[in-house]
Amino acid sequence: MLAKLKIPHYIIDKATFPRDKTCGDGLILYAYKALKELDENLYNNFLKHPKILHSRNIKLNISNDTAINFIETEKERPQVISYAKRIDFDNFLVENLSKTYANQFFGNPARKIEKHKEGIYIKLKNGEKILSKLVIGADGVNSLVAKQLANKIINPKKNSTFITAYFKDVKHLPKDRTAEIRLVYKGVLLFFYIFPLADGQVNVSLVATTHHLQKNNINLIEELEDILNNHPEVSHKFKESTRVSKWRGWSIPFHFGDENVFGDNFMLVGDAAGLANAFYKEGVGTGMMSGIICAKKIEQCIQQNNYSASFLKSYEKDLKKEFYKLLKFSRLTLRIARFKRLFLIIIKLFKKRVEKKAPKMILKRSY
Ligand SMILES: Cc1cc2nc3c(=O)[nH]c(=O)nc-3n(C[C@H](O)[C@H](O)[C@H](O)COP(=O)(O)OP(=O)(O)OC[C@H]3O[C@@H](n4cnc5c(N)ncnc54)[C@H](O)[C@@H]3O)c2cc1C
Repeated sequence: MLAKLKIPHYIIDKATFPRDKTCGDGLILYAYKALKELDENLYNNFLKHPKILHSRNIKLNISNDTAINFIETEKERPQVISYAKRIDFDNFLVENLSKTYANQFFGNPARKIEKHKEGIYIKLKNGEKILSKLVIGADGVNSLVAKQLANKIINPKKNSTFITAYFKDVKHLPKDRTAEIRLVYKGVLLFFYIFPLADGQVNVSLVATTHHLQKNNINLIEELEDILNNHPEVSHKFKESTRVSKWRGWSIPFHFGDENVFGDNFMLVGDAAGLANAFYKEGVGTGMMSGIICAKKIEQCIQQNNYSASFLKSYEKDLKKEFYKLLKFSRLTLRIARFKRLFLIIIKLFKKRVEKKAPKMILKRSY
């Protein structure tokens, strides 16, 4: 987005690309909206990418006999969810970085971030220093920028912990590549995901609120293995399967609205800003969209030569305008969903209405 606005910048990442990243590999809503806003061609190339799959159906199973289907019915819109390993999707984005405006510093972690009169110094591991009037923390849940400039610490009540792995030879998956999401009640509410991938493997993930896992001493790997071996709707699919990766754990924060996302000379985006969805865990799309909103703010900063916290307050306002209602609703839904019976009653009451409205709701957030 900065390149589209013709703004020169440095992009620093400790990784070199292609690089893998622990994720469920599902792309929805805001990922489409962000790609389209960046460049229609980029979006079209994404649709045609050989390593990315698309599906028109997400099936959210509340219990073994109650589910809500989010189905895309409009012919011209080919998907409601896409699946891409992050090693491929993130590299697709990196390959499309501007050669003119984006100075790439990859394979070199930022170690220290210091405020100075002239702006902010970023010290890299190899000893290099970059001085900038503005720093954007796009460095994930353990963001150095958020820690060093916004004094942020992780709040387990507003954080989800995941475990994930790739499997091969998973059978009886729907031909239309429907995303399978299940709410599993094991003392705490767990979300279980099966996402099919272009190479024939599937991504299997399990997630719950970090605080509830800690309080109830739950081991996510044991719970996930139990689901794969014994769940009546799942186990038959995994009878002949083999896990082809290590179990990988990571977390995502959903604290947006409660913690600072800007200050003198800095802004936070994505997980660093706590922008993941508490209920269905979208974090890639919200991350991308927040980057676009942030880039537009950067353009205003340059035009007005103002990088102060008081000027950047409007960045938070812009983020709230885009995300606040949806993220607040998702947090509320997560709270209600913990009570299985109550949630089932609500779902049964509203299922038809939600399913009917789904294409419109999807359209609003994604195209
Ligand atoms: C298991 C799991 C499953 C998930 N499933 C989904 C899903 O299906 N769909 C979805 O939308 N979201 C999902 N999420 C959430 C999603 O992965 C995140 O919300 C999203 O990646 C956030 O993007 P980000 O760019 O803010 O941070 P990240 O993707 O974490 O990227 C941060 C980048 O910063 C770099 N970095 C970090 N520290 C430094 C440093 N000091 N110096 C230089 N570089 C640094 C890292 O190398 C990395 O490239 C899942 C998360 C997990 C853990």
